[in-house]
Amino acid sequence: MVGTVHVVGAGVAGLSCAVRLARAGRRVCIYEAAGQAGGRCRSFHDAALDRVIDNGNHLLLSGNRAALAYLDEIGATDSLAGPPRAEFPFLDLESGLAWTLRPNAGPIPWWIFSSHRRVPDSRSGDYLRGLRFAFADAGATVADCLDTARPLYRRFWEPLVVAVLNASVEEGAAALLWPVLRETFGRGESACRPRIAAEGLSRSFVDPALSLLGVLGCPVRFNSRVRAMTLAGDRVSSLDIGGDVVAVEALDAVVLAVPPAAAAGLVPGLDTPRESRAIVNGHFRLDRKRPGVSIVGLVGGVTQWLFRRADIASVTVSAAGALIDEPADVIAGRLWFDVASALDLGDAPLPPYRIVKEKRATFAQVPGEVARRPGTRTQWHNLFLAGDWTATGLPATIEGAVRSGHAAAMLSIGANT
Ligand SMILES: Cc1cc2nc3c(=O)[nH]c(=O)nc-3n(C[C@H](O)[C@H](O)[C@H](O)COP(=O)(O)OP(=O)(O)OC[C@H]3O[C@@H](n4cnc5c(N)ncnc54)[C@H](O)[C@@H]3O)c2cc1C
Repeated sequence: MVGTVHVVGAGVAGLSCAVRLARAGRRVCIYEAAGQAGGRCRSFHDAALDRVIDNGNHLLLSGNRAALAYLDEIGATDSLAGPPRAEFPFLDLESGLAWTLRPNAGPIPWWIFSSHRRVPDSRSGDYLRGLRFAFADAGATVADCLDTARPLYRRFWEPLVVAVLNASVEEGAAALLWPVLRETFGRGESACRPRIAAEGLSRSFVDPALSLLGVLGCPVRFNSRVRAMTLAGDRVSSLDIGGDVVAVEALDAVVLAVPPAAAAGLVPGLDTPRESRAIVNGHFRLDRKRPGVSIVGLVGGVTQWLFRRADIASVTVSAAGALIDEPADVIAGRLWFDVASALDLGDAPLPPYRIVKEKRATFAQVPGEVARRPGTRTQWHNLFLAGDWTATGLPATIEGAVRSGHAAAMLSIGANT
């Protein structure tokens, strides 16, 4: 006899948890506050562009094993696109210098010993300095581990760190970077191939999961914000969804897969990260479509990464605190300057665009806030936490969100058997 697992939140963490449970034959019910699933990883049709766009550029690497396992489970592996081998074209918008990083196969990074393969003006020792992340203590920032005067800092470490941690090098938590480097660049070419959702984030991460959950008889209740929970003794006994009370029966479990502020509001005494950092994305409709996708790292401009799919060029500004409150048209002008330079469009006029501001894109991945990340278990035996902000040991990414969802699924199976 097994009970139902009530999953609160249909972002990537909640969906990956629900899919894992449903495929294991569990009864699952999902409650989502919004009218759609996906949370911070979603697509929508934009009227100004007349295209489906993402809330923001999301880059995965082929070493993101949990994210790829999730896509496999929902039948969406083929929905990612990227080069057949690991390569990262970079462009310095100030100097016009361009280079492509091509890590070699296998775990020994011999490419860093070849001046032809290294980032221009870098030395092997600049890369080996990255080993310091392996020994970074919990209070160290990325800047504590690097020589910020070296060209490699500006041409590799900074765009990588700002994208992965959504924090500046000066404040980002060094300890979060090592697992990413170890699981991707540390395993060689096959683990660091860049991947993006070819037809949008929802087509890859959300819609196939909803279809599978539907087939497996696991309903998603949209527009169902969980407003309160009854925590009696050592367990959750009910969920309050705007007046509609759902009983959590003796063999049931609850997985809270909501952002940290929402979890703190529902669970008394729960310490969570409190600060967040913003990401701004600009999407521009170009005058012609090109086949395939391209992914380019940008240095020396406002933006850090450019994705191009068909006739849409999308650029990201992570750690965007300085930009987020600017009006959209001002932001568009600044971002278009980077896009036009990167795509060699000269002084082409600003095309149709959409600026998407995500004020709370991730929790602030700085040492003090990282220390607040709670684990999956709570003091209530049938209540578990999931989300990219929980203590996954990884940055707040799709990979972290999926792993948190899988961890919560595993523990909730144990709780109600
Ligand atoms: C602009 C941007 C760019 C990013 N770039 C990358 C990238 O390049 N690579 C990468 O790996 N990651 C990236 N990320 C991070 C990635 O999107 C997140 O790590 C991931 O989506 C988090 O998923 P989650 O399920 O933990 O949280 P969320 O997506 O926040 O999901 C939580 C869900 O809970 C719902 N909810 C909230 N309160 C309640 C309630 N009371 N009751 C019911 N439901 C509730 C919300 O509506 C939401 O759907 C980016 C994020 C942003 C915003």
